[in-house]
Amino acid sequence: MEKDHRLTRRNFLKKGAMVTALGAACTVGVTGTASAKAGTYATLIDLTRCDGCKNEPIPKCVEACRKENVKKFPEPREPIKNLWPQKTFDDWSKKREVTNQLTPYNWTTVQKVEVEGEEIFIPRRCMHCDNPPCANLCPFGALNKYSDGSVVINHNLCMGGAKCKAVCPWHIPQRQSGVGLYLKLQPMPAGGGVMYKCDLCHDRLKNGMIPACVEACDKRLGDKKPLHFGKRDDLVKIAHERAKEIKGFIYGENENGGTATFYVSKVPFERIDSKLKEAKSSLPMSKVLNPLRAVNSWAKGFLIAPLISGLAAVGLAVYHRRIEKMEEEKE
Ligand code: SF4
Ligand code: SF4
Ligand code: SF4
Repeated sequence: MEKDHRLTRRNFLKKGAMVTALGAACTVGVTGTASAKAGTYATLIDLTRCDGCKNEPIPKCVEACRKENVKKFPEPREPIKNLWPQKTFDDWSKKREVTNQLTPYNWTTVQKVEVEGEEIFIPRRCMHCDNPPCANLCPFGALNKYSDGSVVINHNLCMGGAKCKAVCPWHIPQRQSGVGLYLKLQPMPAGGGVMYKCDLCHDRLKNGMIPACVEACDKRLGDKKPLHFGKRDDLVKIAHERAKEIKGFIYGENENGGTATFYVSKVPFERIDSKLKEAKSSLPMSKVLNPLRAVNSWAKGFLIAPLISGLAAVGLAVYHRRIEKMEEEKE
C-alpha cells in the first residue's frame, strides 16, 4: 500500500530510532518575513545513512525534485541576447540533463567525497537560512523567508541580477537568461534572467505534504532513510541526539546564523569541506557566520533600505570572496 506522505503526526520523525514522529499535524503558515525561526520546518540529513542511490540511474531525491518542479523550470525565449553591458549570458536550457551540480533545472544534487577510504554522499540544496542574506539583500524584494521555514524566489519579480547568489555563502541560486521581467526592461545592468533554487517544496507544504525529495527517499529506504523532515526545534534535538549516538558532528545549526537544514556526520565537517575544496566543488561546507546581523541593525529605520541593501549586497559579495581567499591561503 502507498505510504501516507502528508504532514501528519504519524509520519514525522520518532525520537532515537530516527523514524517519523514530531509534533502535531499542522497547517503551515505562509507569511513572508525577513526572519522566521520558531515553529518553522526543517530538514535533517543524516550522512551516515545516505548511499547516494549508487545503484540507481540518478539519486531518487534528485529525480523526485526534478519531477516535482518541472513546471517551474524556465523556457527561455530564443535567441538569448547578451546581457548589457557584460556581453555574456547564462544558458542551462541545453544542459537540462545535468544532475551533478545545481542548475536552474536541477535544484538538488548529491556530492561524493572519500575520507580515509570511506565514501560519504552529501545531498545538497538551499539551506533555507533563518536570516537569509539572499532575501534580505535582493534589491527587488524577489525573495521571501516564509513562516514555514522556506526561502522562496518569486520568479515573476526576479531580475536575475544574481545578488542572491553573490551573498549566499554557498552560492546556491542559479541563473537562466532569456526569461523573466528583465526582457521587458533591457538594457539594464541589474538584470540578466531569473534565479532558481530549491523552495523547500513551499507549495506542497501549503497543502500539508512533505517535500518531494524526502518522500522519495522514504519510499526507497523507509526507516533507514537519511532525509527527515519536521519541526525545526524538534529536529535540532534529534540532530544532537544522533550526533551524540554516533560521536559525530552537526552542520547547519549555526552556520550563516542558523538554517533550516541540518547535517549529521561521523566525520568532522572540516574534513568534508577540505575534500570538497580539493575536488574544486562550487558547494563547500565551510564554517560561515552571518555578517547580516551588523548590516541589519545599521540599516534599521532607514527609508533608503533598498539602496542600502544593494550596497550591502556588493559589500557582502566582496566579504565572502575575502573569507574564501583567506581560507585558501590558510590551506
Ligand atoms: S538522500 Fe536518499 S534518495 Fe537522496 S541520494 Fe541519499 S539515499 Fe538516495
Ligand atoms: S542557502 Fe543561500 S540561497 Fe539558501 S536561504 Fe541561505 S543565503 Fe539564501
Ligand atoms: S525540498 Fe523540494 S525543491 Fe527542495 S530539493 Fe527537495 S524536492 Fe527539490
